[in-house]
Amino acid sequence: MPDPLSLIAPSLASLGLSTARPLVLIDVDEVLGLFMQGFGDFLKSHDLEMRIDRFALFQNIYRPGATEHLDLAEGKKLFDAFFAGHCDQIEAAPGAIDALNRLSDHAEILILSNAPAEAERLRTDWLRKHGLAHPLILNTGPKGPIAAGLVAQTSHPTAFVDDLLGNLDSVADHSPLTSTFQHVADLRLRPHAPRSDRHPRIDDWTDLGEAIEASIRR
Ligand SMILES: [Mg+2]
Repeated sequence: MPDPLSLIAPSLASLGLSTARPLVLIDVDEVLGLFMQGFGDFLKSHDLEMRIDRFALFQNIYRPGATEHLDLAEGKKLFDAFFAGHCDQIEAAPGAIDALNRLSDHAEILILSNAPAEAERLRTDWLRKHGLAHPLILNTGPKGPIAAGLVAQTSHPTAFVDDLLGNLDSVADHSPLTSTFQHVADLRLRPHAPRSDRHPRIDDWTDLGEAIEASIRR
């Protein structure tokens, strides 16, 4: 009978990753890349605006001058259009690329992003544009199950970085030995982003890189 974890996660070998080094799983939006800024610019080109006055996405999209946010279904359509055609235009989070390059001296890196499947080519292009040759997995839903399937394949230490507590809690629940870190890249979003004692919150990428490195050297 196949291992149930192998049904939800590809093998590290098939992704080109070694099981002989620690494994670090990294989110993209608001971790490696400035999603809210990029999506906000895309909205501007549709005569809409992103108002960051709470930790939300679709509820932050407004027509100029409006007091009620845009219909959520319309927001979702714009979100899908952004990922299908424009998600390669976001900026890298300050310090992220350098920190990842330093980390890759000591660890295997896997990019684990919750994004529509249509984003795969542009998201891959974006990583390559920044010199990141690491494999990319596009996931939907909480990241714990797929992370568990991935980290179960290595006996070396593992770490996971995300901006969303839902994903961090999910990974911590499914893979209690994996070190989890919260990073919120967007300066405007930081004061609104909920944090948790379960996961160190490190918004500076240089500090984050060092903390990840310490965690996988334990
Ligand atoms: Mg994210």
